[in-house]
Amino acid sequence: MKTNQFMELALEEARAAGARGEVPIGAVVVLDGIVIASSGNRTRELNDITAHAEIAAIRMACEALGQERLTGADLYVTLEPCTMCAAAISFARIRRLYYGAEDPKGGGVDSGVRFYAQPTCHHAPEVYSGMSEVQAAEILRGFFQGKRD
Ligand SMILES: [Zn+2]
Repeated sequence: MKTNQFMELALEEARAAGARGEVPIGAVVVLDGIVIASSGNRTRELNDITAHAEIAAIRMACEALGQERLTGADLYVTLEPCTMCAAAISFARIRRLYYGAEDPKGGGVDSGVRFYAQPTCHHAPEVYSGMSEVQAAEILRGFFQGKRD
């Protein structure tokens, strides 16, 4: 799957997060073709282990719209969400999830617990993987390589 403007913005957020010393993952919430919120990882900045890009973007979108859920909204994220974020995406009633690279070590959508396939999951978004996966994986690889050098 090729990219689009929303995934491009998520990649920009990922790069910006990396420049701040955060793990370079970015997320964008879109409703009716309009960007409602975008964020990178902010766990270090906020000293908040739950401030993954997806949750940060969902919080911002809910605040912007003044509502608890994001029914009908789509979320673009550069890496397969972890289990915590997969659950938050479900609770927020996100309609479609587009993610870039797969994360066999930490993902919770198509890897690990496969949250949306569980009987305890009451809302599953449509999932589209592989959008801009090469770029998303490259940003992560560059970041972790830089850490080791
Ligand atoms: Zn997460």
